[in-house]
Amino acid sequence: MSRKPFVAGNWKMNMLRSDAEKLVNELKPLLEGIDSVDAAVCPTFTALGKVADALAGSKIMLGAQNIHTVEKDGAFAQNGAYTGELSAEMLKDACVSWVILGHSERRQYFGETDAGVNAKVKSCFAQSLKPIVCVGETLAERDLEQTNAVVEVQIRGCFAGIPADQAKECVIAYEPVWAIGTGRTATPQQAQDVHAHIRSVLASMYDKATADAIRIQYGGSMKPGNAAELLAQPDIDGGLIGGASLKAEDFAAIIKAGVK
Ligand code: PEP
Repeated sequence: MSRKPFVAGNWKMNMLRSDAEKLVNELKPLLEGIDSVDAAVCPTFTALGKVADALAGSKIMLGAQNIHTVEKDGAFAQNGAYTGELSAEMLKDACVSWVILGHSERRQYFGETDAGVNAKVKSCFAQSLKPIVCVGETLAERDLEQTNAVVEVQIRGCFAGIPADQAKECVIAYEPVWAIGTGRTATPQQAQDVHAHIRSVLASMYDKATADAIRIQYGGSMKPGNAAELLAQPDIDGGLIGGASLKAEDFAAIIKAGVK
């Protein structure tokens, strides 16, 4: 099964609007002619408009880093008294196509849970947005050899009740928490083993064809120097990139490393 690699940049709480525009304008020519890898940038909410304008006419897609989901009268509320929050419809209106959900920083600092991510996945699809669902174990969990069990619980929780045709459109980012922003990367074999496990969990939840269709990104200190080896693994279908996505040359080099 061939899956088109997908590399997304998670800018986190970085980049003022002018920096964001500059980065995108540097990135565009570097990615000219690259059609075999999908690319997206996920800026802060305040930079979405600027980045959407800068991306006009380019194949680079726009993502957001969160969404607010609340059910009201049997539907997802798209507006209302939720101070400080943004709905799926608002992100759609801002030209967003992807939304990062369940990033470990949101789980750690903002109490995000698998059930909450699950609701957000559903609210994304209600507005034709596509989720990038993040899962991954802490160092303590890895040391206790709980990695497979932890990611299985996360996948089952985040995808509960999501039909196969929607699951196929989702991207999963396997991000070992101990590798995020630490400079410590999972070895290609460590990452491949977890990706294969995630795919087997998906096959048991859905079927092999569905599991084979879902793209699974690796995230955690991926950079130009280690991207090719990671992306060469059979079950690694791209990357979710934090630090290295803030420099156009580094982000472009990672995307180019995904060209088969
Ligand atoms: C991330 O936060 O999704 C991430 C992978 O960060 P970094 O690349 O900086 O480790």
